[in-house]
Amino acid sequence: MNYTAQQIAEITHSQLIGDGTQLVKNIAFDSRTIYSTKDTAFIAIKTQQNNGEKYIASAVEKGISIIIAEKQLFESDSIVWLITDNTIDFLQKLARHHLHQFSLQTIGIAGSNGKTIVKEWLYQSLCNDFSVVKSPKSFNSQIGLPLSLLQINAEHQIGIFEAGISQPNEMHRLEQIFSPKVGILTHIGSAHLANFESEAQLIDEKLQLFSKSEILFFNGDNDLVYRKINEIYSTKTLISYGFEPHNDIKITSDWNDRQEDISVQYFDEVITFPAQQRDAATLSNALAIIAILKHFGFENEIIIEKLNQLKSVEMRLESAIGVRNNLIINDSFNLDLDSLKIAFQFIKEYNKPEKVLVLTDFVEGKDLNTLYDTVAQLINEQNFDKIFLVGQEITKRRNLFHSETFTFSTTNELTDSLHLNKIENSLILLKGARKFEIEKLKSLLELQKHDTVLEVNLNAVLHNINVHKSFLKPETKMMAMVKAYSYGLGGYEIAEFLQHHHIDYLGVAVADEGADLRKNGITTPIIVMNPEQHSYNAVIEYNLEPNIYSFRVLDLFHKQLKQANFVGNFPIHIKIETGMHRLGFKEFEIDELLQKLKTMNVKVASIFSHLSSADVPEERDYTLNQIAHFQKVSDRLMSGLGYTPIRHILNSSGILNYPEHQFDMVRIGIGMVGVSYNEKIKPLLQSAVTFKSVISQISDIQKGESIGYSRKYIAEENTRVATIPVGYADGVPRLLSNKNGFVGIKGKKMPIVGNVCMDMMMVELKDLNAKEGDEVVIFNGEPSLEEFAVYCNTIPYEVLTSISRRVKRVYIKN
Ligand SMILES: *Cc1c(COP(=O)(O)O)cnc(C)c1O
Repeated sequence: MNYTAQQIAEITHSQLIGDGTQLVKNIAFDSRTIYSTKDTAFIAIKTQQNNGEKYIASAVEKGISIIIAEKQLFESDSIVWLITDNTIDFLQKLARHHLHQFSLQTIGIAGSNGKTIVKEWLYQSLCNDFSVVKSPKSFNSQIGLPLSLLQINAEHQIGIFEAGISQPNEMHRLEQIFSPKVGILTHIGSAHLANFESEAQLIDEKLQLFSKSEILFFNGDNDLVYRKINEIYSTKTLISYGFEPHNDIKITSDWNDRQEDISVQYFDEVITFPAQQRDAATLSNALAIIAILKHFGFENEIIIEKLNQLKSVEMRLESAIGVRNNLIINDSFNLDLDSLKIAFQFIKEYNKPEKVLVLTDFVEGKDLNTLYDTVAQLINEQNFDKIFLVGQEITKRRNLFHSETFTFSTTNELTDSLHLNKIENSLILLKGARKFEIEKLKSLLELQKHDTVLEVNLNAVLHNINVHKSFLKPETKMMAMVKAYSYGLGGYEIAEFLQHHHIDYLGVAVADEGADLRKNGITTPIIVMNPEQHSYNAVIEYNLEPNIYSFRVLDLFHKQLKQANFVGNFPIHIKIETGMHRLGFKEFEIDELLQKLKTMNVKVASIFSHLSSADVPEERDYTLNQIAHFQKVSDRLMSGLGYTPIRHILNSSGILNYPEHQFDMVRIGIGMVGVSYNEKIKPLLQSAVTFKSVISQISDIQKGESIGYSRKYIAEENTRVATIPVGYADGVPRLLSNKNGFVGIKGKKMPIVGNVCMDMMMVELKDLNAKEGDEVVIFNGEPSLEEFAVYCNTIPYEVLTSISRRVKRVYIKN
C-alpha cells in the first residue's frame, strides 16, 4: 500500500491531526516486533483482551511517527495522529478500499484445518506462472485478513487469502471486506466448535465467505457440509474433493499401500502420482491443489510435477542455544520477502549484544534488482553487525548492505572460511532458500547435538494461557508459576517468553531460582513461595518478593531487612491457611499479624491461599469452603491494613472450575503445558511439550533370546528390537521396564522390553516398518503425557519435573 495520511483519513472517515502528506506504506500492530519504521504507522488496536494504547509510547520510542488510535494520547509536533472510533473497523475499511483498487483474481480459503497448508501449497504451485500475493503465516482474523489485503499492489495477478473465525458473526464481517471469486472450503473439524451452538451453525457461518464466489472447491467428506453447500449454493459451480465416492475428485487407489502410486479420479480422468507423505490430511489437501490447478488450466503432467515439488510447510522458526554463548535462529525452510519480515519481527524479541545474519539468494522473484533493493533496505534497518551472503545473485549486490559484509558462492565455502567459528555472544539468524541447505550451519553452530530432546512449543504455551484468560475478566492479573525449572520446561527461556507477553508476576519455589532469572535479565516481579532461611539476603539483593507464611518467617525476614539497612517498604506476600494444611497463617493469628506488620517496613503486596482440590469435582464443597474462608480472613486482614493488596487463590484448575472466584489475580502452572482434568477444556488446550529421541540401533532377536540386564525379558518369537538412547537417568523410570511402558514409533505405541537402563532402553518393534534414525516419541502424541504419567504411576507434574537437566530443551515458535 502507499497512501498519504490525508488519503487514509478520507478513506476511513477518521480525524487527521498533523501533517497529511506523510506517507504510509506499512501498518504495524505490535510495538515489540516493529522491524522497520520508515513510512510505517502504528495502530493501537483495542480488543476485549488488550488495549494497544499501552504500547504507543514504545512505538514512538522506536521511531514511529504516525499513530492510529481511538484517542490522541498526547500532543507532539513530530507525530501524526489518525483518530478513529474503532481501530478494527478502521483497518477493515482501509483494506476494503485497497482491495477494490485492483483487479486481481481472488482466492479465499476457509475451514477448520488445512487453510494455511493449502494456501502455501497453492502459492508454491502458482508463483512461477503468476505474480501471487498471499496472507503471511496464518494471518486470517478480523485483524490478520485486512493486514494481509493491504499487501496487494498493482503487479499482483492472484491473491490467496485465508479467512478464519472463532465466534459467530465474524465471517459476515470478513466477507464485507473480502468476497473472493474462487472459494475453497477445507476440512471442517471441531476447532472453535465450543463457541458455536452446533456444527451446523459453524458450517453456515464459514460458508458466508463464499456468498459472492463464482466457483467453490470444497472438502465433501463431511455429509452436513456436502448437503448444505448443494442446498445453499446450487447456482454456483461446485467441485467437491475427498475420500468419499460422491466427490467429483477422489482417491481411487489404496493409499495405505506404499508400493503403489496414488490414483486420483478427476471427473472422467485419472491422474496418478507418487506420494511420500500419505496421511489423510495431506492427501485431501493435495486433492484441493489438483482441483484448483485444473481450474487454472494446467496440463496433468505439469500438475504432477508441481505436486512433486511441494514442500512441507514448516512455518516455524527454531531457536537453539549455540556454542560460544550464541543464540541460533534457524529459518532455512523458505526464503521470500514475507518470511524475511517475519524473521525480523521474531528476532526483535531477543536481546543479544550483537546480531549476525546469514542470507542466501532468493530463488523466486522476477525483477531481481527491485527485489534486492527492498531486501537490502529492510536489512540495513536492522543494524546487523555482520552479514554473510551466500549465492551468485546476492553477492553481486554486496554494496547495497551497510554492515560488515562477507560473500561466498556456496554454503560449504562459508563453512570452510571458519568465519562463523569466531562469532560469540551473538544472535545468529540463518535465513536461506532450501537449496542452499544452510541448516548445515545450524548443526555446526549448535551446542552439543543430542538425539534426545524435550521440545517446548512456546506458541502452545501462549495459546494455553489465552484459553485460561478467556475465563477471566480482562483486568484480572496473572502470575505464572515457573518453579522447578518451569515444570521442567526450562529456566529463563520460559520466563523471558512470559515476560515478553506481559505476564504480571512470576512464581518460583526458592530464592536461587529467582536469582537465576534476575541474572538472565528477567525484570518481572517474582514471588518466592518457599524462601529458605539462609536465602533472605538473596531475596533482598535480587529484588525478589517473599511469601510470608508464619511469624517465624516474618521475624527472620524483618531482621534481615534491618541488617541490610533496607529503606522503604519491602513488598511481601501473606499466605493464609484455608485447608491445604501446608503453609500459612491461621485465622486466629490475624490480629497479632496486623500488629506486627504495622511496626515493620514492609508492604503487603498480596494476600493469597492455595486450593487443595480444585481439579477434583467431588471436592467442590471443600473447595468452596476454602474460598469462603479465604474471603473472610483476607477481608479482615485488609480492613486492618488500611490499604488493598491484591488477592489470589486460583491455580490452573481453579481458573477453569471456579472462575467466579478469581479475585484480583490467578496463578497458572500446569495449564500452560496443556494439561487439564476438565474434560470440556482439555480439547481446547494444546500440548506444549514433546519428549523425543531416535532409534540408535535395530537388532533381530531370535525366539528364546534375552534382552537387557538380568535377562528379564525373553523373546517369545523371532522379533525386532530397537535401542533408544534414553534411560532412567533422563527421566524414564525403571518402573516402565518389561511392557509396563510404551513409546510412540511411527504413530504406534510399542512396548519397552527388558529392564530400562541408565541411559538406554529397548523397545520391541515386531514387524513395524521402522529403521535406525527414526523418531521415537516418549510422550506427547502417542502416548500422551497423561498416558505416560499413568505408566509411571504418577501425575504429569512429576513426569515433567523428573526429566533430567541433561536432556536438551529446544524451543519452537511460529
Ligand atoms: C505450583 C503452584 C501453583 C500452580 O498450580 P497448578 O496446579 O500447576 O496450576 C499455584 N499456586 C501455588 C502456591 C503453587 O505452588
